[in-house]
Amino acid sequence: MNFQLIDRAKENEDKIAIVATEGAFTYQNLLHTSARIATKLLDNVEDLQEQRVAFLIPSGFQYVATQWGIWRAGGIAVPLCVSHPKPELDYVIADSGASIIIAHPDFEAVLRPIAQERNLRFIITSETLPETIGLLPEIDIARRALILYTSGTTGKPKGVVTTHQNIQAQVTSLISAWGWKKSDRILHVLPLHHIHGIINVLTCALWAGAECHMLAKFDAQKVWHRISDGDLTLFMAVPTIYVKLIAAWENADSDRQKSMSDGCAKMRLMVSGSAALPVQVLEKWRNISGHFLLERYGMTEIGMALSNPLHGERLAGYVGKPLPQVEVRLVDDKGNLVAPGTPGEIQIKSPGVFLEYWQKSEATAKAFRDGWFCTGDFAVVENDNYRILGRISADIIKTGGYKVSALEIEEVLRTHSQIEDCAVVGVTDPEWGERVCAALVLKSGSNLTLETLRSWAKERLAVYKVPAQILAVEDLPRNVMGKVTKPSVAQLFEKV
Ligand code: AMP
Repeated sequence: MNFQLIDRAKENEDKIAIVATEGAFTYQNLLHTSARIATKLLDNVEDLQEQRVAFLIPSGFQYVATQWGIWRAGGIAVPLCVSHPKPELDYVIADSGASIIIAHPDFEAVLRPIAQERNLRFIITSETLPETIGLLPEIDIARRALILYTSGTTGKPKGVVTTHQNIQAQVTSLISAWGWKKSDRILHVLPLHHIHGIINVLTCALWAGAECHMLAKFDAQKVWHRISDGDLTLFMAVPTIYVKLIAAWENADSDRQKSMSDGCAKMRLMVSGSAALPVQVLEKWRNISGHFLLERYGMTEIGMALSNPLHGERLAGYVGKPLPQVEVRLVDDKGNLVAPGTPGEIQIKSPGVFLEYWQKSEATAKAFRDGWFCTGDFAVVENDNYRILGRISADIIKTGGYKVSALEIEEVLRTHSQIEDCAVVGVTDPEWGERVCAALVLKSGSNLTLETLRSWAKERLAVYKVPAQILAVEDLPRNVMGKVTKPSVAQLFEKV
């Protein structure tokens, strides 16, 4: 075996690797089961030679053993999303050109017909595995390992291909920046078809020889129970999860609140990322847990790029500085470096940057400029720290000739006493180019009108940033990662 994840697991054989609903499993269990899965997948061939293996398994030991089994057989792992409807599963299976599908019995009904229609090998995780482990191939780390489909906040999902080497770079960067140790114990509550759950939580934990405790899916009460046990050292989540945990804490009685908060106090680090962390959420969480959330910035294509420090001052509303092994620069629309304090597009160079969009060479070529990956995110450096201004396409609104950050306006609107949450978008307008529109989740009993909001907002924002139109909604449209889908928000206004 040529990739370190497996070699490192061999050094930790007797340690617990995974705790899940199925039980507790050591690194030895993981090595043994994944080797049996690899043997089954190989089915007497020497090497899967980068065949794509799509798999749909709830979070737990089976998921991890399968992912490792695919890697150890020389395949490319294509994790599917447990909450996707059939057409989206079919899209990923077809686009990745998977030749094998592995399914947990819960998903047999939806996946077996796809396998039959496409004439693919179909394996159910309840099938017996070979007792004897066959010869497994040597895997060069330059080979493709994983295809993750991008969240789809913009355009049709593309398969982001990373090699074992890319994954190794993404993981080792975080291991050193966030001080992962064998003694760490993390609670895993994130989806396992997305980089955050796969790399930052699962693979970092297993690389470090730590324990990964997996919940089959996010449930605020269960998370609080585990936190209250007081044995976790790390927690990582997206902002919407922190919002749900805050709500559950607020609804608990004072004794319970104390044990919840005490559990947080026992941890050494709590991280937020994958979407902007509203400063108010950061502050509420700080009051509850005593933790100043470490916010970081990353993307499926690049791994993590910017992070607040493990030790030292963290700034609310900022994502810190470049992580180890990562070069970051900001450029203007002509590709020139911007002056300090001037917003620009984030571009990244690092060994963690992905290899290609799967079978989309044109899209891959377009995503790079002089060897730098163009993220499509806008940011500014202030006091040596990066502040994310949003997606160039969706979050930078061009109104009356001004470039306006949707995230900045959202931060201000959230401080209004009647606003629970909001999403700001630009909608095509004959007069302004785009007009600033805000979808608002209002607190119960609110009677907020456009007029009163505008006069309130004018005291806090330049007039061209003040929403020209508002719409009260029950919930904001979100993708499975809890990220607000801005195109769907814009559509709400187009329908009005
Ligand atoms: P994904 O590839 O699904 O992880 O999405 C990556 C995108 O999420 C980035 O391109 C950013 O637009 C956004 N993102 C990730 N982390 C942050 C953050 N800390 N603040 C603001 N946006 C973020």
